[in-house]
Amino acid sequence: MNAGQKKSLRGKRFGKLTVLKQWGKRKNGTYHLCQCRCGNKTIVRGDRLKDRKTKSCGCLQIDMARAIIRNTTQRQQEMQEKISLREG
Ligand SMILES: [Zn+2]
Repeated sequence: MNAGQKKSLRGKRFGKLTVLKQWGKRKNGTYHLCQCRCGNKTIVRGDRLKDRKTKSCGCLQIDMARAIIRNTTQRQQEMQEKISLREG
């Protein structure tokens, strides 16, 4: 019963992620339990790992999102200041 083991990603690294084990199969692909360098564990579809579309548990995106939120918050504050000026 070695079928499937050939394709095993166990121990492979993709960006910040290291594949711990195969997690399960779904219609659209095989999912893997991965350990992120930040300490989080996440489940990622195999083809997303292989295509390098998923390289972290999400902390990379969170870092980017934080930057966007920071800008947005600043902009909202500026807008609120303008509104309060108008109202005042
Ligand atoms: Zn992470």
